[in-house]
Amino acid sequence: MNWQELDLFNPTDEHLMLRQTVKEFTQQEVEPQAEKFDRDEKFNLPLFRKLGELGLLGITVGEDYGGSNMDPIAAVIAHEELSAADPGFCLAYLAHSMLCVNNLSVNGNEEQKQKYLPGLCSGELVGCMAMSEPHVGTDVLGMKTTAQKKGDHYVLNGRKMWITNGSLDEDKTPADCVLVYSVTGEANGRAQISTFFVDKNCDGYSVGQKIYGKTGMRASNTAELVFDNCKVSSQALIGKEGDSLIHMMRNLELERLTLAAMSLGIARRSIEIMNRYASEREAFGRPLSYFGQIQKYIGDSYAEYMAAKTYVYDVARKMKVHSGGQRLDSDGVKLVASTMGKNVADRAMQVLGGYGYVSEYIVERLWRDAKLLEIGGGTIEAHQKNITKDLAGQL
Ligand SMILES: Cc1cc2nc3c(=O)[nH]c(=O)nc-3n(C[C@H](O)[C@H](O)[C@H](O)COP(=O)(O)OP(=O)(O)OC[C@H]3O[C@@H](n4cnc5c(N)ncnc54)[C@H](O)[C@@H]3O)c2cc1C
Repeated sequence: MNWQELDLFNPTDEHLMLRQTVKEFTQQEVEPQAEKFDRDEKFNLPLFRKLGELGLLGITVGEDYGGSNMDPIAAVIAHEELSAADPGFCLAYLAHSMLCVNNLSVNGNEEQKQKYLPGLCSGELVGCMAMSEPHVGTDVLGMKTTAQKKGDHYVLNGRKMWITNGSLDEDKTPADCVLVYSVTGEANGRAQISTFFVDKNCDGYSVGQKIYGKTGMRASNTAELVFDNCKVSSQALIGKEGDSLIHMMRNLELERLTLAAMSLGIARRSIEIMNRYASEREAFGRPLSYFGQIQKYIGDSYAEYMAAKTYVYDVARKMKVHSGGQRLDSDGVKLVASTMGKNVADRAMQVLGGYGYVSEYIVERLWRDAKLLEIGGGTIEAHQKNITKDLAGQL
């Protein structure tokens, strides 16, 4: 039996078909460009738009808006498969389809959805989500970006940092739209957060800097965004004013689940590469796989990968696109899978020796990309904190 095709990971024919389609696309179109775009620190926008033709850009969005109306398991499959070839490109896909598009689809009103979702699902428009700031990441409620209501519009002021897809190219072309969290007031000593859907043509909105020199995920663009007296109409408010903490938390569940799926893709690819290499490469007249220390690298990696994968797919099975409901375990899967992916990529590099350290065998890129998943979408310390708090709340 092929260890990647268990029913647990493809519960329906639709899921299996999706996996095969994404895998085929990945092998034919994503894999060949991955090394170049990583080296050049560039986002492959034409390739990204092709994901729209496959129905992946609005994978969790209703068909009425141009989406594929699929479930979190499908989202996990798409991220796992894309990440097995190019985690950087996959991160750009995640920022668009999970952080921006899914969020708008779940929390936007009819007019907002009709206006933006068809373009976002087809790939005509590229979106991003801006939560983190230069001085605030984990402590998200400490955000400084404000939105002040003035008559029939709001005025946004602040800076957002580390925004994937924030800039589409080196000329600092902004994404077509950005979902921005900002503070609209305070209640009981706590910031009231609201979400705005800001169009790239809004006055006062610009890309501050495109961030270069990332360790990994270099095929996705990361940027700082600036809101300087940025005037947006009241129609840009998503949901009710001050009500966005719940949107943010629910969307983070799907974000963490799909980031965990990316780690699965990295681990699987690393295992495939080190397994083949250890069978073919000889030392002391024996294949590397003969030696116990190499067996430990491969055996431990496979078992840890399968354990994390089973957890990820179980949480995906229980998660609902519209209501989440897996807060504790979305932190749990990201905590387990991100470190597992990093460790497995590290072992693959070790098994390949000097060849692992150069780009030919891919593992050095997977190794660099894997580290981000212990930081982005919540650090491993944040997951440990959240899990402990949630478990204590169950006492
Ligand atoms: C490549 C990349 C892409 C990203 N894409 C996006 C995006 O699209 N949109 C977006 O909004 N953000 C994005 N981010 C931001 C990312 O989510 C944050 O970097 C992350 O949440 C951590 O925040 P920080 O960097 O400010 O670190 P900090 O929060 O300052 O944390 C620094 C260190 O302190 C630890 N720490 C903080 N608080 C505690 C605590 N209470 N207990 C124990 N330890 C603690 C952290 O775990 C970490 O080790 C991206 C980041 C990167 C690097």
